[in-house]
Amino acid sequence: NNTILKIENLKKYFKSTKGIVKAVDGISLEIEKGDTFGLVGESGCGKSTFVRTILKLINQTDGKIFFRNEDISSFDKNTSRKLRKIMGMVFQNPHSSLNPRMTVYDTISRPLLIHKITKNKRDTTIKIVELLKSMGLQAEHMIRFPHELSGGQKQRIAIARALAVEPEIVFLDEPTSALDVSVQTKILKLLEQAKKDRDLTYFYISHDINLIRVVSNKIGVMYLGKMVETGQTQKIFEKPLHPYTQGLFKSVPEPDPDKKLPEDMLTGEVPSPINPPNGCNFHPRCPYAKSICKEKEPELKSYEDGRLIACHLYLK
Ligand code: SF4
Ligand code: MG
Repeated sequence: NNTILKIENLKKYFKSTKGIVKAVDGISLEIEKGDTFGLVGESGCGKSTFVRTILKLINQTDGKIFFRNEDISSFDKNTSRKLRKIMGMVFQNPHSSLNPRMTVYDTISRPLLIHKITKNKRDTTIKIVELLKSMGLQAEHMIRFPHELSGGQKQRIAIARALAVEPEIVFLDEPTSALDVSVQTKILKLLEQAKKDRDLTYFYISHDINLIRVVSNKIGVMYLGKMVETGQTQKIFEKPLHPYTQGLFKSVPEPDPDKKLPEDMLTGEVPSPINPPNGCNFHPRCPYAKSICKEKEPELKSYEDGRLIACHLYLK
């Protein structure tokens, strides 16, 4: 069994003045060692909250999380130091994720010291230089402060810091969306190489479907706190089946006109995660909605080619 991360019926609800926000509403998912999983969905669908809950940066409302076979569900944000060593994370904005008063050396040495990865200053320096080189930077960058670095360099430092603890899985939440396209490509290549060199598993989150298409071997499509379709990237891009996936992919320019999807799929407003629609929560926007869709929530079930879909059109 190659499963590295197993999530069972994970829920994260928040209280708000208008009611309960169901940001993550019963997601189950398995990630295998070596996967590059890509989670897609419109902004506000709960992607980031889902990942922050897995990382135990916030506590879940319900459900289980297993890392390999260990139940980490009961870890909380105070007892999760152990997780910081096995699960790395890189966030969207390198400008806010680096401490402006810390040099690159201090930024990267901190996790090395906390997790006792290196034994002395010499070891620490050697390790930092190795990490910087793996991100296409030089030893001389060690003494720089964030304001002396470009956006792309800052993000490479944030990645080097995430890799410093030798994690098994790295979560990348929109890691390149704040950067120029040319810088994006470079960083994605460095990430790909780091994955090979370090035997990593990646979990990307992005609203950029083309990016996910390029980097991932498996994808999950999230809508209003739920997973609506998940499986091999290639199969889902060749033939998106869930009406929401079709609509989402439709909003991306398709170079091959033969693969053009139906027009005007994602009509209507995104409903609120506070008091979401009954039945299939996509029904107010779905052109194929039938009466059962308004009453019964479709379960995420396996389809013939191995993917999972939550839609009454495919449930037998
Ligand atoms: Fe559309 Fe019904 Fe499928 Fe939901 S279950 S996506 S409303 S067809
Ligand atoms: Mg987000």
